[in-house]
Amino acid sequence: MHTQKKKKIIGIDLDDVLLDFNPTLYAWHNATYGTSFEHKDVTSYFIEDIWKCTRAEAVAKIVDFYLTDEHKNALPVSGAVQGIERLRKNHSLILVTSKPDYLRPLTVKWLEKHFPAMFQSIHFTNHWLGDKNKRRTKSELCRRLGIQVFVEDGPAHALDVATVCEQVFLFNRPWNQMEVFPPIVRVSSWEDIVQKLQ
Ligand SMILES: [Mg+2]
Repeated sequence: MHTQKKKKIIGIDLDDVLLDFNPTLYAWHNATYGTSFEHKDVTSYFIEDIWKCTRAEAVAKIVDFYLTDEHKNALPVSGAVQGIERLRKNHSLILVTSKPDYLRPLTVKWLEKHFPAMFQSIHFTNHWLGDKNKRRTKSELCRRLGIQVFVEDGPAHALDVATVCEQVFLFNRPWNQMEVFPPIVRVSSWEDIVQKLQ
């Protein structure tokens, strides 16, 4: 029998941690623009590197994608529902996404469908889009909210929250294949995270 560890405040990213964002995005892109991207091709967090376009063009496409049914109906990442249900029993969970504030209604709806009442609060950092005056870093939020552990897939966000958090779980993805050092730990699944945090 394991001894139950102390309750933690855990920050959870949304896209590609809970919501299967990139697979949904490139399926939409392939159908809309006649491309044939696969998961293994997405080796950069910066979509313009993959699509071979400018940042402005990539942002414009993402803005379009946000409002599609494909995005609204995106599925949860495999194992995320069970993982969040398990973690919630022993810890406080806070959702922190770099998405813009204007997606709050859509995001809340999606979360209510797949992760009903699982999060203490939901925060948008407006990292790429939205009101620049409301732009924050994820580490600022961690400091303010007392987040001790973070689950993330974005390389820059992982490095950022690692300046504040005692533990950062980097969800293994083709776009984050850099060498990582504590407090960042690479994980391959939600089961892996639950096992390390129980
Ligand atoms: Mg993400």
